[in-house]
Amino acid sequence: MSNLVVLRREMVEIGRLLETKGLIVAAEGNMSVRLGGHCFLVTPAGKCKGELKVQDPLEVDSQGRCSAGRPTSEWPLHQEIYRMRPDIRAICHAHPPWATAFATAGRDLDGQLLTETAQVLPRVPLAVRSLPGTPEVARSIQPHIKDHDAILLANHGVVSVGNTLKGAFELLQTVERLAQVTLLSEMAAGRCGLDQGMLKELVDRS
Ligand SMILES: [Zn+2]
Repeated sequence: MSNLVVLRREMVEIGRLLETKGLIVAAEGNMSVRLGGHCFLVTPAGKCKGELKVQDPLEVDSQGRCSAGRPTSEWPLHQEIYRMRPDIRAICHAHPPWATAFATAGRDLDGQLLTETAQVLPRVPLAVRSLPGTPEVARSIQPHIKDHDAILLANHGVVSVGNTLKGAFELLQTVERLAQVTLLSEMAAGRCGLDQGMLKELVDRS
């Protein structure tokens, strides 16, 4: 089996996982892999990523041109990340609800809250608000992408990078778990019990 077929199958499988794990719905999200020689494998625009077929991912050049089909509208975002990060080979973008809630509230994530993320993901920065599918999304990540492998896109979602698509996907899952635990820990810290006076009054009433 050729390497390209292996990469296509991996993209199909991760699209399915993104949907089944609730990180995207319908046609949300997009993925790409650097093939070398200024070529990239990219998810097509408008298709449900959970139902991709092996033949669906498109081979595009660095300008996003391909012989047939239309690549994701977020190709300018992917293009800019590959330009600024020659060390990475894959990108995963999704709308995971817990992390997107932070991105909507205008908050970044502190990875130092958890032992699992303190080293690999000490901070997930928040990029400024931009409209999906516009060149502004690519500009919004410029201040962060050199030093961070995952970024929150304000009022939108998360983008992550890796040496493999699986690696980028797993990092996105880690961001989502960090957001979930952060919010739950804040809720737990906000729990307020009865004070001693009220407890005594209840005992006295019984
Ligand atoms: Zn998006």
